[in-house]
Amino acid sequence: MSEHPRLLFFDANNASPREVYAETGNGKIYLSNIDDQDGHVLIFETVNATVSATGNRLFIFLNKNGAYLSVEAGHPSYHDLKTAVQPERKSWFGKMMALKWPVLVTVLVGIFIIAYFIMARVIPAAALKIITTEQEAEIGNSFYRSLMTTEEKDTAATRIVNEFASRLYLSEKYRIRITVIKETEVNAYALPGGNIVLYTGILETMDDPDMLVALLGHEATHINERHSLQSMLSAMSMSLLRSMILSGFGDVGSIVLEHAGTLEQLSYSRKLEREADRKGMELMIRNEVNPVGMKKLMTGLQEANDNLPGIFSFISTHPMSDERIKTADAFAAAHKTATFAPDPELRKLWQQLKARK
Ligand SMILES: [Zn+2]
Repeated sequence: MSEHPRLLFFDANNASPREVYAETGNGKIYLSNIDDQDGHVLIFETVNATVSATGNRLFIFLNKNGAYLSVEAGHPSYHDLKTAVQPERKSWFGKMMALKWPVLVTVLVGIFIIAYFIMARVIPAAALKIITTEQEAEIGNSFYRSLMTTEEKDTAATRIVNEFASRLYLSEKYRIRITVIKETEVNAYALPGGNIVLYTGILETMDDPDMLVALLGHEATHINERHSLQSMLSAMSMSLLRSMILSGFGDVGSIVLEHAGTLEQLSYSRKLEREADRKGMELMIRNEVNPVGMKKLMTGLQEANDNLPGIFSFISTHPMSDERIKTADAFAAAHKTATFAPDPELRKLWQQLKARK
């Protein structure tokens, strides 16, 4: 004999369950005795009830006194009772899938931005704390060696500029070494640990030794403040995130990431550039060189860019905004009364640099 699905009522005061009829409506559950159609009707508020599904059975706890219903799957009232007590509750995943597309996209973009922030900032910042100055120099040197394999060094200029730099205070922690590359492109960059690379193209835009001091001060600050190392760690961490997202979400995810990344990276690098300008000028003061040389350097680069667009890698990473020039100008004005007595050897070396063949 196969049992039909049953609806049993358990009363806390009554040890043996009773089979009942159930009806729902108006936020209530009405129970009546199955043996006696005119029997006593019990009424429970659905707001007081909770539901728990176990196996193929539903338990509906009717009140705080311990009365409950046990409903077998397949019972005609199973669905009515379930939805009366638990109106279409969904899992977080179900809820998310039911959201409109714009909301879903916003949530995904939010997740990407958080992941981006962790990979671009948190991990590199942690790595930055762990990496020692010696390790930093090793990383920078290996980059330097691989970069130099395709470059032609200007030996005479390199010798003169290094002598020029050795007469300046540029760094406390790092040994600053400069390499001049024979290249018309207007470019300069700093590598972690102490290497500065200048292209002859950028030297051509200068007509004053103070401008070279300004450039060296700016680049040395990128090294002193570990900006170069930060950018490198950030780039490494980002490429890792990019491959993670590519494998997980495909091209759409990586495009979203790219846009979030570009915007954030832009404001981040601007912050570093402002710091390099400011601390670069502080180094100029320390070397008793007039910081107005920074403004001269910037306007010189801007003019050269207007005349020769297209060969300006330095401008693309160092946009000469009016704001930067104004800031440099204000810094120089604030230090107008300071006495400037740059090492006279600097001018001699500068003349040698300009006169070299
Ligand atoms: Zn810079």
